[in-house]
Amino acid sequence: MSVALLQQDTDPFQIISDVLGSPLLRIAGQLLVLLVIVFWLALVYWTYADAQRRGSVSILWGIVAVVFPFVGTLVYLIVRPPEMLSESRERELELAYLERELRTRVVLCPNCRNTVESDFLLCPVCNWELKKSCTNCERPINMEWETCPYCSTDQRSGEKLI
Ligand SMILES: [Zn+2]
Ligand SMILES: [Zn+2]
Repeated sequence: MSVALLQQDTDPFQIISDVLGSPLLRIAGQLLVLLVIVFWLALVYWTYADAQRRGSVSILWGIVAVVFPFVGTLVYLIVRPPEMLSESRERELELAYLERELRTRVVLCPNCRNTVESDFLLCPVCNWELKKSCTNCERPINMEWETCPYCSTDQRSGEKLI
């Protein structure tokens, strides 16, 4: 009896299977699996959000990240569009637009050189008459224009030309 017990205790295979079957190791294994799943889901979310931010087909990349855990995100990282480039290009376009807007909207008063807006009727600093308002639609038009370009009204006769 005692010999049999001794033999069982020293059986190396029994020890290994005891360790593998221990509840502590099983819990550790389950925790590891849980961690991997959480990491995978986080990567799926990140891939989706990043693709959306960069104007990619975010739904498609989200699905790729779900179907191919980790590898999908890795592939996305390789082929994703560079954000900085598009962002700086967008800013450049915006700046050019603002500049053009500023150039067309802001003019100088011919009398006092104060900056006035292109649709001002008179200069707010020196009261210089800059434009007249149309007799029909009241939009600001140049002093020398005889017809309003907005509503085609002749400024003297008040007749609509078109
Ligand atoms: Zn002025
Ligand atoms: Zn008009």
